[in-house]
Amino acid sequence: MTVNGINQTDIKANTARKHPTYWFDDGSLILQVEDVAYNLHKTILTRHSPLLQSLTRNTEDGYKVSVVQIPEELGVTGEDFDKLLEHLYHDMYLNFPNVHKLARERIISLLPRSLEGLSHPEFADQALTLAVRYELYPIQKALFYTVSTHMHFEEHDGEGDANIEAPSQAEAAPSVHVPPDVLQRCKDLLDQLIAHFTPILFTVATAGHMACTDVLAETWMPLVIQPALENNGLCRPIETLQAIIDLDWGTHGLCQECVAEKVEEWKGEQAVVWNKMDEWLGMQKKE
Ligand SMILES: [Zn+2]
Repeated sequence: MTVNGINQTDIKANTARKHPTYWFDDGSLILQVEDVAYNLHKTILTRHSPLLQSLTRNTEDGYKVSVVQIPEELGVTGEDFDKLLEHLYHDMYLNFPNVHKLARERIISLLPRSLEGLSHPEFADQALTLAVRYELYPIQKALFYTVSTHMHFEEHDGEGDANIEAPSQAEAAPSVHVPPDVLQRCKDLLDQLIAHFTPILFTVATAGHMACTDVLAETWMPLVIQPALENNGLCRPIETLQAIIDLDWGTHGLCQECVAEKVEEWKGEQAVVWNKMDEWLGMQKKE
């Protein structure tokens, strides 16, 4: 738009209706677009527009406010102008619903959502912070699990839990950077996971046949408990159960029937942990 194309009019002669949002009583510049009048702050607009700056300099004519009418032939619509003002007045609150929606969908598509798809992405703590802030429920649970069980934060003050190893620094787990309320939820979740899984890990499994139960009794300590304690297994129920499932139980003397039965049972335990996390995290099931 050019200076020549803009008319300055007397506010008293102006019959435009006031904009519901951008009519500020302490405004110092009245602008008209189509039939809507905006009472704006001259300093905010002139800071971004040398054109308006030069224009309003010429209107110090005794009126308290300057009035500028933008001619319709310039094709500036009220909608466009509202968007511009949203930007100028609310730098921090740009609202592009479609872009926001696409960004949400993209983030969700990049991160694990299910027990089957569970993985431990890099920067899970940053992703978790976003997932909580923007209420990206489908990815929150897996991220809470990853941050709680695979990243390092101050060990919880367990009551008599001296034997329980929280994720150790020895393996150089990355430190967690999340807001304090999120960190507290991670700590609480880890406590819940350990409390839930401890009796499961330390109770020797039994089988349908006496001989198979004997096999489990003999092997549970060396094959299950010891490796778990060496690898933070108590803090990571899902991975520990997977390691138990992945053992070649047949070569250790378990019959095929019992192997199949136990594997189903351990998968069931994984699902129980996964499902209980909703409750432990205080999350409604939202998709
Ligand atoms: Zn058997």
